[in-house]
Amino acid sequence: MAKALFAIFGDPVSHSKSPLMHNLAFKGLDHDACYTRYRLEEGSKLKEKFFSLGLKGINITVPHKTHAYAACDVLDPFAKKVGAVNTIVEKEGKLYGYNTDAPGFLRAISEFENINTVLFLGAGGTAQSTAVILKEAGYAVTLLNRSAERLEKFKAQGFSTFTFESFPTPLPSSYDLVINMTSAGLEEETLPAPRNILDAVIPRAKACVDVIYGKETPFLKLAKSYKKPVKDGSDMLLYQGIIAFEYFSGNRYTFEQIKTYMEKAFTL
Ligand code: NDP
Repeated sequence: MAKALFAIFGDPVSHSKSPLMHNLAFKGLDHDACYTRYRLEEGSKLKEKFFSLGLKGINITVPHKTHAYAACDVLDPFAKKVGAVNTIVEKEGKLYGYNTDAPGFLRAISEFENINTVLFLGAGGTAQSTAVILKEAGYAVTLLNRSAERLEKFKAQGFSTFTFESFPTPLPSSYDLVINMTSAGLEEETLPAPRNILDAVIPRAKACVDVIYGKETPFLKLAKSYKKPVKDGSDMLLYQGIIAFEYFSGNRYTFEQIKTYMEKAFTL
């Protein structure tokens, strides 16, 4: 039988760590498969490309998570609820879609103890699936975003939402965890919210998290200056990859077995 082939679809995709992560796990676990990257320019061609490349499964990154959702024949209930798919597995000619970003994120923040209230800075695509999974896990999630527009759908789902202008100061309550869910700090050295708001919420937080990985963002620098425990987006990336690998391998290995090999991608 031919070796099973997996890939990441995105645009751009050259920077992705996923091929390294999955190939380290396939090799370490002696699982006969390999993982490559494919720059997909037109999201509407996702299904056609999947089959023409003879793939068994894919991960999907920016900007194709909504196209990935539309391409699936069968959706996992959570992926269906949040409308975003980042993992697809082919079984008997049908595409099965899952969202592993949100459970990966939940696992990453579960490592902080005694957290009840969470403030999201940002309300984009990543905030959507992660806010829902955190709410289901019992956290009280509030969203603070630069523009009002993106907050509408969160408001409709019962979340507390604020723009920079409507955020109350002085703060009526504190937030145990403050999370940068924006792309501020990714390419430019910008903070995700006005300094006066961050100076009000960070000192009262138990910890701060950034979804950006591979660099210390201005937000994490500021949190460290307040001596707060911090975490960047590396664990989220690793954990979504491990959960995707569980689907790719038909749950043949435990989370910890996969982690042993996949986490080496962050030390190379
Ligand atoms: P989206 O484009 O869907 O949303 C971007 C969000 O960031 C919006 O809320 C936007 O606010 C806000 N924003 C952008 N620039 C600024 C700024 N300068 N100041 C304040 N707010 C800003 O992005 P995604 O949700 O897809 O991605 C968000 C981040 O998550 C990215 O940095 C991405 O790299 C990271 N990520 C990390 C993962 C991991 O595994 N670690 C996985 C997936 C994503 P507005 O509405 O006002 O425009």
